[in-house]
Amino acid sequence: MSLLQSSKKKDKRVLSGTCPDPKCQARLFFPAHGSVSIECTECGQRHEQRSLLNVEEVTDPDVVLHNLLRNALLGVTGAPKKGTELVKVMGLSNYHCKLLSPVLTRYGMDKQTGKAKLLRDMNQGEMFDCSLLGDRAFLIEPDHVSTMGYGKDRSGSLIYLHDTLEEVKKANGNRECLIPVHVDGDGHCLVHAVSRALVGRELFWHALRENLKQNFKQNLDRYKALFQDFIDAAEWEDIINECDPLFIPPEGVPLGLRNIHIFGLA
Ligand SMILES: [Zn+2]
Repeated sequence: MSLLQSSKKKDKRVLSGTCPDPKCQARLFFPAHGSVSIECTECGQRHEQRSLLNVEEVTDPDVVLHNLLRNALLGVTGAPKKGTELVKVMGLSNYHCKLLSPVLTRYGMDKQTGKAKLLRDMNQGEMFDCSLLGDRAFLIEPDHVSTMGYGKDRSGSLIYLHDTLEEVKKANGNRECLIPVHVDGDGHCLVHAVSRALVGRELFWHALRENLKQNFKQNLDRYKALFQDFIDAAEWEDIINECDPLFIPPEGVPLGLRNIHIFGLA
């Protein structure tokens, strides 16, 4: 066990602590020396060492060895680090949201049984009405601002939005009240962004696209008249088809919605 003998020069103790996310609470092991932030092996969030709960020294050499081996082996086999879509915040990852979203378009919760029930069977229409979320605005917890896949965007928006964000900050008495947050770049980024701005999660990408499609169809004549100087009448069929959650663009055409869809969503 020479590996684990303590040395005077470096702190070779192994500590353990609990992930501070109340929905995670995984027990994490890390060397006392050199780890300022620790990536949670369970939820994937990175936490400052000082924000972990119940930090204590691990003295059982078997537990220490087990965890050193585990970390080393996981490193060797190249088990991928959690991607942004798998990082769980309060128990929910972007991947969960992506899978749940189509269900939420058609189902709601029956208040009596707590179970999922078709919206239609509860007299709430064929699909979820996104305008019900219209008065919502998401407020991020300061602790989550730096959380990968959930907090501040790292894809470059801080650079290209720099001047705009500075203006917004100035208007708020130099307080940072608005930040660009992460959304997944999976072809649904526009509706993910709207969903996150409303409820903080990428839960409504599917319903937003379905609602948008229906909105264009129902008000097509008005849209045609409003945008007649900018959009050729023949283009509307494509615009409506592009709203579909399952839309796949032809070869070579980039995936994603465009400016006219922003008007529709608004
Ligand atoms: Zn965790």
